[in-house]
Amino acid sequence: MSYVLALLLGWVGFSLIKRLMSQGSVSSSKKKTGQKMLACSVCETYIPEQDAIIKNGKIFCSKEHSE
Ligand SMILES: [Zn+2]
Repeated sequence: MSYVLALLLGWVGFSLIKRLMSQGSVSSSKKKTGQKMLACSVCETYIPEQDAIIKNGKIFCSKEHSE
């Protein structure tokens, strides 16, 4: 049964690393560029906060996607 434990530990470790990496990339890109990146709700493209169009609490990359 030890292989089940190993698998479980591996999965937990993997999801922890994945979570840490996604958090790290967000904060590092913020530090590097000094701006927040936002994902478009239509195409999920990341755009700088200053270029994002925010409409009804949703984020869009372009005027076309906000309509
Ligand atoms: Zn878009």
